[in-house]
Amino acid sequence: MKPRDRLRIAMQKSGRLTEPALELLNRCGLTFRQSRDKLFCFGEGEPVDLLLVRDDDIPGLIAQGVCDLGIVGRNVLNEFQLTGGRDSAELAELRPLGFGRCRLSIAVPQEMEYREAGQLQGQRIATSYPGLLGQWLRERGVDAGVVTLAGSVEIAPRLGTADAICDLVQSGGTLVANQLREAEVLLESEAVLAGPEALPTDERGDMIDLLLKRLDGVIQVRE
Ligand code: ATP
Ligand code: ZN
Repeated sequence: MKPRDRLRIAMQKSGRLTEPALELLNRCGLTFRQSRDKLFCFGEGEPVDLLLVRDDDIPGLIAQGVCDLGIVGRNVLNEFQLTGGRDSAELAELRPLGFGRCRLSIAVPQEMEYREAGQLQGQRIATSYPGLLGQWLRERGVDAGVVTLAGSVEIAPRLGTADAICDLVQSGGTLVANQLREAEVLLESEAVLAGPEALPTDERGDMIDLLLKRLDGVIQVRE
């Protein structure tokens, strides 16, 4: 691939992380002009551009070298590290960013008296995070069926396609609405700056160092 002389950051095009991610980059002194197709944002002052994509695509774009950095939930990054294939081990969480906080949790029907992981033996658990759930179950020696769904995981128990779910929880309101109860927390998540394990050694590496320094300043001021 031809080396780029501008830094490219992947972020969510439209969703929970979009506004806070843009605000954080603005506070780091980066401003952008949005292109007409809204996929690409050209950096105005500094040589830093944005690629606006679905959050699920962000780790892959970094692993392929299409983008240098990404702003994405730890849940999505860790899932990719477990299931994304050959390139995925080389991705790292460079900084936690302090927004988009949520947990990846197992939830069970409200009437179930949940005490321990062993009770999930032989149960079907619906999730969009088969890698993280599979790892958690293996670590506990629990043999459960993992039903992978792209969305609307929380309705699976009512539909009878699963006995429990493993999904993102923030307030817990969605669980209550679906007569579910949080039973185990697998991961505490927030938005993170993701990048390659080995940072580039050219000018892009210098730009990344500079961005990390500014981020550290901005995040410290906010805490
Ligand atoms: P996309 O169209 O980009 O695929 P999405 O529907 O997967 O969007 P969002 O719902 O916008 O994504 O969530 C993006 C991220 O926000 C999640 O991966 C997670 O890290 C974080 N998040 C924080 N709170 C919640 C929550 N209650 N539910 C889902 N995600 C949450
Ligand atoms: Zn997504």
